[in-house]
Amino acid sequence: MPETALQSLPAIPLTSLSEDEILFRENVRQFAEEKVRPLAKEMDEKGVFDKSLIEQFFHLGLMGIEVPEQYGGADGKFFEAILAVEELSRADASAGVVVDVQNTLVNNALLRWATPEQKKKYLPRMASDTVGAYALSEAGSGSDAFALQTRAELKGADYVLSGRKLWITNAKEAGIFVLFATVDPAAGYKGITAFIIEKEFPGLEECRVPKSNVLGEVGKGYKIAIETLNEGRIGIGAQMLGVARGAWEYAAKYAQERKQFGKSISEFQGIQFQIAQMATEIEAARLMVYNAARMKDGGAPFVKEAAMTKLFCSQVAERVTSLAIEVYGGVGFTKDYPVEKYWRDAKIGKIYEGTSNMQLSTIAKLVMGK
Ligand SMILES: Cc1cc2nc3c(=O)[nH]c(=O)nc-3n(C[C@H](O)[C@H](O)[C@H](O)COP(=O)(O)OP(=O)(O)OC[C@H]3O[C@@H](n4cnc5c(N)ncnc54)[C@H](O)[C@@H]3O)c2cc1C
Repeated sequence: MPETALQSLPAIPLTSLSEDEILFRENVRQFAEEKVRPLAKEMDEKGVFDKSLIEQFFHLGLMGIEVPEQYGGADGKFFEAILAVEELSRADASAGVVVDVQNTLVNNALLRWATPEQKKKYLPRMASDTVGAYALSEAGSGSDAFALQTRAELKGADYVLSGRKLWITNAKEAGIFVLFATVDPAAGYKGITAFIIEKEFPGLEECRVPKSNVLGEVGKGYKIAIETLNEGRIGIGAQMLGVARGAWEYAAKYAQERKQFGKSISEFQGIQFQIAQMATEIEAARLMVYNAARMKDGGAPFVKEAAMTKLFCSQVAERVTSLAIEVYGGVGFTKDYPVEKYWRDAKIGKIYEGTSNMQLSTIAKLVMGK
């Protein structure tokens, strides 16, 4: 492109937000500051997610961001879900993931593959009072997700599901599960089928699910899993971005307060460089998250960008939260200060919705044309 043409392009940063997006982000940020952050430590200690927060997520429209208005949702874009996950995770990664799974996996699967009847039945619930969970993993099938063993056998008008799922985020709180089982283990991935399961359906080990609750087509569940997880990975990138930001902010503030050798440690170049390195990595992570989310909303292919985003953001979160502990020194290592929790929370970004190795494998296939 000639230089003159380049100069005439408007200088719009990739991180620019529309007025509506700015307003939305401010609302979520304020909510996260006032309602989520004060509960983060206690929820971590108790290992229990606060029920009233979930009610507030629904009240604020955060559990049905892309659900159309006709079903009581906020009729927003994927990008808004990403902003919400980032802002909530800045205060508490668990709050971020509750909203992330609801929007980027469960609602996403229902919006794309549910029949009109299923949409009418389930989307209003997802937008108003029902938490969703996404049940793919089992003890023997994690990265090799399509080796799952949960069986679905058609008996009359129902499928009878038997098997065990593991690691399911939101499982305790959920009223609806998008669950993957195989109708024919001999068919390999082509037997995998997605089901919409209500918590109230009879049987835990032998669950009866009406045929009408197959999501998408029988034997096409693998496609639903792959495609929802592609979007979900941008959400995990946003979660990790929020985690990194949260830890960085604490570290930058503490560096001003802590005095050694008669001055604030932020006056030492060694600390300044660490704070600057963290800020640079966070900026790069944000560019990747926003770019991938905009590509998804714009209908462009985004599989490579989503995998790269999750891979990179989880690395950034791990490095930034680790450096944040070092900026705090000894107290950073204790649970009396907030940064070690951010470090623990950063670790999961490299594991769920496909480990870092699985992201690298996807990226390698796409960049090497294999
Ligand atoms: C807190 C938490 C929440 C979760 N939430 C959910 C959820 O809501 N729904 C759900 O379905 N699952 C969920 N999971 C499961 C998660 O997706 C799996 O743990 C993850 O996919 C990894 O599977 P695995 O634990 O069996 O590890 P494994 O697959 O056993 O991997 C072990 C190691 O081997 C490596 N490895 C495996 N295969 C290869 C390969 N081909 N090439 C190179 N390296 C390889 C992996 O990268 C990893 O380092 C959750 C897990 C956790 C910890």
